[in-house]
Amino acid sequence: MGKTNKIRVENPLVEIDGDEMTRIMWKMIKDKLLFPYLDMNIKYYDLHIKNRDKTNDQITTDAALAIMQHRVGVKCATITPNEDRVKEYGLKKAWKSPNATIRALLNGTVFRKPIMARNIRPVISSWKKPIAVGRHAYGDVYNNTEFRVDAPGNVELLFIPAKGGTTVRMGIHQFDGPGIIQAIHNTDASIQSFAQACFAFALDEKMDLWFSAKDTISKTYDTRFRDIFEQEYQENWRQKFQQNGISYFFTLIDDAVARIMKTKGGILWALKNYDGDVMSDMIASAFGSLAMMTSVLVSPQGYFEYEAAHGTVQKHYYRYLKGEETSTNPMALIFAWTGGLRKRGQMDGTPDVIRFASKLEQAAIETIEAGAMTGDLLPLADCKQGNQMVSTQGFIDAVSAKLQDILHD
Ligand code: NAP
Ligand code: MG
Repeated sequence: MGKTNKIRVENPLVEIDGDEMTRIMWKMIKDKLLFPYLDMNIKYYDLHIKNRDKTNDQITTDAALAIMQHRVGVKCATITPNEDRVKEYGLKKAWKSPNATIRALLNGTVFRKPIMARNIRPVISSWKKPIAVGRHAYGDVYNNTEFRVDAPGNVELLFIPAKGGTTVRMGIHQFDGPGIIQAIHNTDASIQSFAQACFAFALDEKMDLWFSAKDTISKTYDTRFRDIFEQEYQENWRQKFQQNGISYFFTLIDDAVARIMKTKGGILWALKNYDGDVMSDMIASAFGSLAMMTSVLVSPQGYFEYEAAHGTVQKHYYRYLKGEETSTNPMALIFAWTGGLRKRGQMDGTPDVIRFASKLEQAAIETIEAGAMTGDLLPLADCKQGNQMVSTQGFIDAVSAKLQDILHD
């Protein structure tokens, strides 16, 4: 296809490159599935670990600012350095997690959503449609203050108002012997922006929204979450939800856990920080493979960053470096691109771009349904003759062939 025949993506798309096996797959996807069909204005940020080190991690901040300018980004997986990585790559220091840096600047909420193929059945047989999970990523036990009490004594909570007023002092526990103590907090502002991101994502995806917490026990803390969600819904979303035939529903976390097993899916489950941490892993595993889980960071200002939920697949990369053929699954990376392209198309009003994103997703899913799949999926797939394990490149080539078939339908 010549440049003139390519589909034009009107406005810039921020591309954030990454590390290891995902960096290898990222390039294959661009070369085989995107560049031949699309005329894109890419703003490229290379977050390879060596480049983050070279720029003293300025490149990560620049990438986040670019998403804030252009509103849509796609991100490859990146190494979060630890001591081993500092040695492996000879780094100046163990730079912060890029995802944490970007999330903090965008003030965003991460939503994970599984990719479903007909022959990869979720462990829970009633799940027919995806269940997305939205995790509040601020406060609670993740920013706690805790210590070990090693002698009898009295523990109190103390609040000192900054602008004068009455100091609040509450007894927590009178210790007779050793024990443990923990304080957690959250802010109305953070809960509110979490709620806004959840309502926005549910509307975008036309999914029902469930929010669950333990408000029967935590009558002030969790009840505050419930109240903020309810108020946000009534004031800003109720009409839009009704017009789109979707609903908002609060229920106790225990009830939600029981109900989730019986639902057909097609819902966004919004969860507090700890609940979301735990439940998102359960949902991912029950849907099959981490390689089939997409992730999007949504900010209340309407910035979107799409990525795979998995990491850089380090073990496969070492095999790749040794010259061995790998069968790493590129699905979540492909869907990061299609998610970004679809959002770009919606913002720009370019139906051809949206259509291309849907066709590429269809080609990828139909490739798996036709039996060509990477090694992680083979043991999960319905047993059928003709199922065949293919290499990463083999899979991408099969998707490319399917895409050419269906693009002009
Ligand atoms: P990982 O990259 O998610 O991989 C863990 C294991 O899951 C792999 O060894 C592989 O299992 C399986 N797996 C994950 N993605 C797969 C795929 N696309 N296809 C096939 N199998 C897949 O996690 P990790 O090895 O713990 O982390 C590696 C690096 O990624 C770390 O440096 C970490 O900091 C980084 N990380 C980045 C992000 C991000 O950028 N969003 C997220 C998480 C981790 P088998 O080996 O059994 O085949
Ligand atoms: Mg977790």
